[in-house]
Amino acid sequence: MKSFVDYPQNSDFSIHNIPFGVAVFNKEYIACATRIGDIVVDLATLFDYGYIDDVEGLQENVFEAYTLNEFIELGKPVTKAVRLKIQEVLLEGSKLANDEKTIEECFYNLDEVKMLMPLHIPNYTDFYSSIEHATNVGKMFRDPENALLPNWKHLPVGYHGRASSIVVSGTDIHRPKGQTKPADATSPVFGPSKQLDFELEMGFVLNQNTEMGESISVSEAEDSIFGMVLFNDWSARDIQAWEYVPLGPFLAKNFGSSISPWIVTLEALEPFRTVSPKQEPEVLDYLKFEGDKNFDINLEVYLQPENGAENLICKSNYKFMYWNMSQQLAHHTVNGCNIEVGDVYASGTISGTTEDSFGSMLELTWRGQNPLKLSDGSERKFIEDNDTIIMRGFAEKDGIRVGFGEVEGKILPAR
Ligand code: MN
Repeated sequence: MKSFVDYPQNSDFSIHNIPFGVAVFNKEYIACATRIGDIVVDLATLFDYGYIDDVEGLQENVFEAYTLNEFIELGKPVTKAVRLKIQEVLLEGSKLANDEKTIEECFYNLDEVKMLMPLHIPNYTDFYSSIEHATNVGKMFRDPENALLPNWKHLPVGYHGRASSIVVSGTDIHRPKGQTKPADATSPVFGPSKQLDFELEMGFVLNQNTEMGESISVSEAEDSIFGMVLFNDWSARDIQAWEYVPLGPFLAKNFGSSISPWIVTLEALEPFRTVSPKQEPEVLDYLKFEGDKNFDINLEVYLQPENGAENLICKSNYKFMYWNMSQQLAHHTVNGCNIEVGDVYASGTISGTTEDSFGSMLELTWRGQNPLKLSDGSERKFIEDNDTIIMRGFAEKDGIRVGFGEVEGKILPAR
C-alpha cells in the first residue's frame, strides 16, 4: 500500500494508520482531522468535496465538530468503513492525488495546525493491570514477600478517576499542593508535592452508550472500543501515600492526566496483536477470553529539563499487560455499570520486568533511593519544576509502522 503523500519510513502516521483527532487550522477553523506523515487532513472539507460522504451510515458531516464524539458514536461498522475510505482516497493514483484544488484546501503542514482535546470525556477509569507495576508498588509500600494483594490475579483492579482534568498533549500542568505526612512527623503538613511522578499508560476510548443493568462480555468488548491513546496519569506520590487508605487514589491523581491528540483505531493495531502473559490461577468464566487480545506497542518515556536535552528514561511495551482491554471492559460492566461515548479507560502504569522498563519515577528510582542521572549531569528522584515528560508509542512489524506520536506535558511550579 503506497500513498501519494511522501513521508519518512519511520513515520508513526503511515498509510496503515489513519488516526483521528481534532485540529485548529490556521488559528481560525476547527474540524476533525486525520494525519499522514507530516500532513494533517481536514476531514470536514474533504467530506464536503465528496470524497468520503458515500460511506454507508455516514449521513451528515460529523467532522464539522469540536470533538470526535459524534463520529465515534456512529459505531464500529461506520468508523471502520470511514477509515478504509480515507486510506483509499490517500493512495497513489487515487482521484484526490490529481485534485490540486481539494488538496490545497484540505492538506495542512504541521506548523499550520494546533491539535485540540479530541474528545468530550464523560467518564474516566484507571486500571492497575501491569503485574510488574503492581508488584513493584506492593514491595515498596507494603510487604516485599506478599507484594500482590489476594484479589489482584482474580480481577482487573481499578478506580474511578477524574474526567474534568484530562488534557491534551502540550498542556502545562501545575505542581499540585496537598497534605503529606513526612516519615518522621507525627502530623501531616501542607504544601507543594515533593514527589511528583508520571505514569506511563495507554487508554482506550469507548464508542457507545449502554443502559444501566446491561453488561458487555469479553467477546463483544472490542466492538465498543473505538481506539487507543497514550496516557500520562500524573501522580503525586507523597500525597498518595498519606491519603490512599482505605479508599484509594484521590487528590494524588485528579489534578491532571494527559492524552496524545491522535486516537489510533483498533483496526490500525490489528497487525500487532500478540499473546498476553499467562493468567494463573485461571480466571472466572466472565473474564475468560479467546485469541490474542493484547497488542505489541513499544513505549518510551523521555525527561527533558528546561532548555535541556531529552533523556530516554524508560522503554516498556503494552504487551506486558496482565489484564487486557476486553477483560477490563467486561469486568467494569459486569455489575451493570453503564458506559458512555467518549469514556476513557486507562491501563494503569505499564512496567516491564527490567529496571529500565519501569513506567514511573517511583519505580525507576525505587522511591528516590536510586536517582536517575541525566545527560546534563543533574539527578532526579522525582519530577522537578519546568521538567517536561514526553511519552512516545509505536507498533512495528514486517515493515509496517503505526504509531501514536507523543503525549507531552511540562510541570510548572505550584500556583
Ligand atoms: Mn494510573
